[in-house]
This record gives sequence, structure tokens and C-alpha cells, in this order.
Amino acid sequence: PKDYVKPEGPVSTICPYCGVGCSINLEISRGKIVGVSGDLNNPISNGRLCVKGRYGIKEFVHHPDRLTNPLIKRDGEFVESAWDEALEYACSKLYQYRPEEVAVIASAKATNEENYLIQKFARAVLKTNNVDHSARLCHAPTVTGLAAAFGSGAMTNSIGDLKESACFFILGANTSETHPIIGFDIKQAVKNGAKLVVANPVKIPLVRYADVYLQINPGSDVMLLSAMCKIINDEGLLDQEFIDQRTEEFDQFKKSLKKFDLEQAVAVTGVPLEDIRKAARLYASSKPASILYAMGVTQHRHGTDNVSAVANLAMLTGNLGKPGGGVNPLRGQNNVQGACDMGALPDVLPGYQKVSDDQVRARFESAWGVKLPPAPGLSLLEIIDAVDRKQIKALYVVGENLMLSDPDLNHLKKALMKLEFLVVQDIFMNETAELARVVLPSTTFAEKEGTFTNTERRVQRLRKAINPVGYSKPDWWITAQLGKRLCGKGFDFSNSTQIFEEIRSLTPSYAGITYERVQNNGMQWPCPSINHPGTPILHVEAFTRGKGVFKAVKYLPPAESPDTEYPFILTTGRSLYHFHTGTMTRRVRGLKQLQPMETLEIAATDAVGLEIEDNDLVNVSSRRGSVRARARISKRIKPGTIFMTFHFPETATNILTNAVRDPVAKIPELKVAAVKIEKV
Ligand code: SF4
Repeated sequence: PKDYVKPEGPVSTICPYCGVGCSINLEISRGKIVGVSGDLNNPISNGRLCVKGRYGIKEFVHHPDRLTNPLIKRDGEFVESAWDEALEYACSKLYQYRPEEVAVIASAKATNEENYLIQKFARAVLKTNNVDHSARLCHAPTVTGLAAAFGSGAMTNSIGDLKESACFFILGANTSETHPIIGFDIKQAVKNGAKLVVANPVKIPLVRYADVYLQINPGSDVMLLSAMCKIINDEGLLDQEFIDQRTEEFDQFKKSLKKFDLEQAVAVTGVPLEDIRKAARLYASSKPASILYAMGVTQHRHGTDNVSAVANLAMLTGNLGKPGGGVNPLRGQNNVQGACDMGALPDVLPGYQKVSDDQVRARFESAWGVKLPPAPGLSLLEIIDAVDRKQIKALYVVGENLMLSDPDLNHLKKALMKLEFLVVQDIFMNETAELARVVLPSTTFAEKEGTFTNTERRVQRLRKAINPVGYSKPDWWITAQLGKRLCGKGFDFSNSTQIFEEIRSLTPSYAGITYERVQNNGMQWPCPSINHPGTPILHVEAFTRGKGVFKAVKYLPPAESPDTEYPFILTTGRSLYHFHTGTMTRRVRGLKQLQPMETLEIAATDAVGLEIEDNDLVNVSSRRGSVRARARISKRIKPGTIFMTFHFPETATNILTNAVRDPVAKIPELKVAAVKIEKV
């Protein structure tokens, strides 16, 4: 492309893996990445990078498997085509469907500018709010639960101020493996005297540093959190002044605690009362305290209740709105926060502005020059259900490998096979793209400009370091081409800066953010005006919604419990060495050597009972299907529970998981499935 200028030195950009958003310098020689180093000036990473960021980039970017040309399926085989032909073909197909017959899946890996265009394409061109992305599988309950309690569903604090915390309560998160640089900061703070409470069914590496470890049963979070609240209330460890001045509905909540049965909490969580008491006392008396949580809290059919229970605990102890004191959902993918901010969700436009609000819609209609659909669309799994019913006939998927990340994959595959038209836009051929009629090759992060928003709401600049590989194109360019061809107006962008300017004009929390202002170290939203310095800590004087609101939550067990046919509980998670569906990390030799395949972690007593030895091949089955994996006898797991990741297509763990979902957030229960295990 004409706009490519050979970099004179290293190019400063953002790591494409997790939501920490470390800044990296890419060394370029002869148009290729030859080295990666951490940026010493970045306030988050201070030059540090984890194994994925440091060693996991150049090989996947330059991998020979990269898609370099558009592909159209003819007689069951993909055939390379020119861009014009592929775009015209995709448009001619998408054009045939009514708004209720199409849906769009956006990408937590793509930039803010790209997600903004993808949701604009869905709403303004296809006239549908059927747009969603993988946040539905990770932090949808954070958005619903924290927005209800505080008015805003995002990390309340900054990564940098965690060092001010006197106590960390890490719940349902494996921080040192999934957000390694934050994990490193926590270890450092603990070495400097901070207290650490860990609650997780799996004995994660941070347990070695913990003052209290609660090995809870999967899905028992509401019981644990409510028990901690009861103990804090009964022992007078609550912050009455904060409760009186900053919150509402406390009396109702207090009443619910009176009736709460601690013995039942012990039975459900599987944790001794003395340990729960120790954790409650430590969290309530070491101030400021910070709660960090991830998908162990959210991926349940009661994920929103879990998040409400987290909010209750923080408000009860006044641990909000101060350095080191807050509620911090750790977002998984590099730009899952940004994809949500940009309105790649079925019920909100950019900036979480409701599509059903006439005034909001009128503003977007006037800016975009089109009429917009007022009714919220379908969420990710509702879209799959509608595909299965043949109500949705065409799907446009950008940068998501649904065929490994979603629950109940056998059902998903059957549904996707019913589509009349599937177009997938990605950097590699993957299990989802295999099912498509058209595959559009996009560039990686290193080949484009834009912004990512990390887990602490920091908008950071992504910079182009190399030319696009082959004939691949940035996602924003591809979506804009589809929009131009189908609509003719509103997609005439020639660079990402122009798109970002449109974003700021319509998104109040991004209004004061410009490329110039974020060029060094980024800025944290909300940033409502050009003179505003950004917001490192939320809810300092008042909550976004005014007062914080308590909610009495009732324990709901997971949809599946062990029984005679399926006697084990499978819980899933991630490893340090691979990322999400592994599309990028499995193409890095070093990472593949560190973890070459899926394993099933099982407690020694269970293994003995099943006559399974380390490395034996086992068959794991749930009510939805079976997979094979090598057994690993593990001290991290308690008897009755097994653990697997979902990074490997050969095993496809999500064949086993349950698509039953939270009625509010619509997230599936990926963390609990009843399974049986047989030695092969
Ligand atoms: Fe990349 Fe996350 Fe590792 Fe930082 S911690 S280098 S953002 S994967």
C-alpha cells in the first residue's frame, strides 16, 4: 500500500493477546518482525512481557498458513479469488436477506474502529441489531451485574494502583497464567506485605502466595460470597458510613443475611467454615482491598447473581472508589472491553447507549443518515438457536472461531450447517471458516493502525509495523467495502483516524480521547471532553448511577450435578502458553513445545479408582458428546472435579460444555458440566 512508510526504529504498538494490554516494540528488518521487546515507558507493563507477548508474536504473524487471498467455495472446495469478486459475491448474498434473517458476530481481537464499523454495518446496512461477540462468553454478567449495582460494568481501578491494595481477593481467576503481568504485580505486592485470599476450584499458581486458599466447588460462588457478607455483618466489620452515604437497599440485603445459613454454605462450597471466616475477616479488615475476578465468576447460568454478590461484598466493606480498593473484572482478550464499548452488543449502541432509547437512536440516525431498528437484537447463543431454527439464514463472522469457543459444539456445527450463507473474515483458516462460503483474509495487529481498550479501560494506540501479508486487508477496510457496496454512504473511510473521529462524536465516554492524546501511554475512559484527564478510578465521589445498590441474591446450583451416569464435574480454563482457541499460539513452535496438546487433569484418588495412569488416553463424555485427551494426575484438583482447557481442536473440549444460560446476561454455563471418564 502507498501509505506504508518503512519504520526507522522499533514500532511501538500493543500486544495482541490478553486484556492487560502491554505495550511492545516490534523490531523490523526487510519488512518482517525480527524482534519483540517490552516498552520501558509503558505504565502497565514497564518493559515486562509474558511468554506469549515476548515469544509468541513474530511466528504467527509470518506463518505460512496466513490467509493471503479471498476464498470462495465452489463445488465444496475453496478457490482463490480477487477482492472485487469476493466482496461482490458476499454483498449479492447478504443483500437477499431480511433484517431478521441475518446476524453479525464482531471480534474482541479487532480494533475499536473495526468493531465500531462492524456494528454500524449490522445496524445501518443490514438493519438488524443481531450483533454480538465473544464477550457473551466471558464478561456479559459483568456488564449486567456491575451496571445494575454501580451504573458501569468495567474494572473500577487501574492496574497501576493495585500496588496500593492491602488485600487482594482473587475469585474465579487464574491471574498469573491468564493476565500474567497483573499476576506479577500481585506477587510483588504480597512480597511487600499485602494479604492474599484465593478462591478457585483449581489450585492455581498464586495459591503459593495466599494467606487463605478456598478450594470451592465449581458454581458455589454465591454461597461463598454471601457467607463472607454474613460473617462481616455479624462481626461488625462492615463500613457503616460508606453504606449510609453511598448505597441503597441495604436493609433488604441485611434481612437476607439474617436468614442465611452458614452450615449450608459449608456444604455447598466444600470449604470449612473456619477458612471462610478467615477470608472474610482478612478482606474486611485489610484496607483498601481489591477484588479481582474472571470467568470462574461469570460463566455460569447464575453469572449475573455471582457478580451482584461480588458488588455486595465490596460495598459492605466500603472498598470502592479509592486507590487499591475496588472491583476488578479482568477482561480476557486484548480488546473485549473495546468491542463492548463500541456497541458490538445486541442492545446497545457505542458507549452503552440503549438502542431502544428514541433520543439515542435519533442522534445516530442523524449522524449516519439512515433509519435504525429500535428493538434489541439476539445475543450470541440466541443467534445460534435462530440459525438452528432456520430463522437466521446468513451470518457474517469477524475474527471469532465459534467452532472451538462456544459451548455444545456438536449442536453448534449442526446449526451452522443449516446456514444458507456464511462469510468469515479471519487471519487463518479455522474450524468455523471451513464451513463458510466466502473467507475474507484480514491482517494481524502488526499490519494496521487503530486503538485497543484494555481491561482497565485504557485506550491505547496500535501502530502499523509491516505491510499486509499477501493480499490480506485490515478488518476495517473489509467491512467498509461491504458497507460501501451495499449502502453507498457512511463507509467512505480511508484510514482508522477518520473512523475514530466519528466514534468520539457519538460516544460520550470517548469524546475527549484523540489519537494525539493517546499516543503515549493511552487514556482511560470516561473522558467526556478534550480537557478531561481521563478516569483512572471509577466511583470516587459517587457511583455512575448515583448510589450503589445492594441486591439480595439466592443461590442457584449449576444446571448439572454429578450422578451415577456422569459422576465428575468438568471445569474449564486457560493455560499460560496458549490463548483462547489457540489459532495464533498453536502456530508458535516454542509455545507448542511448552504445551503441545490438551490434557485432562484428574485427582490421584479418582485416577486410581478408574485405573488411569499419567498420560493414559481417556475418553471424556457429557450428555452432549465425547472427546479424547491424555490424563494428567494433578494435585491442583480435588476429587470429583476434572480440569481441561479449550485451546486444541483435536480435543475440542467445548463439545462437552453446557449451553444452558444466564437469563439476564445470556452467558452459557461453560464452567460446570457433568461428565464420565473411561480409559481408552
Ligand atoms: Fe501480552 Fe497479556 Fe502477556 Fe502482556 S500479559 S505480554 S498483554 S499476553
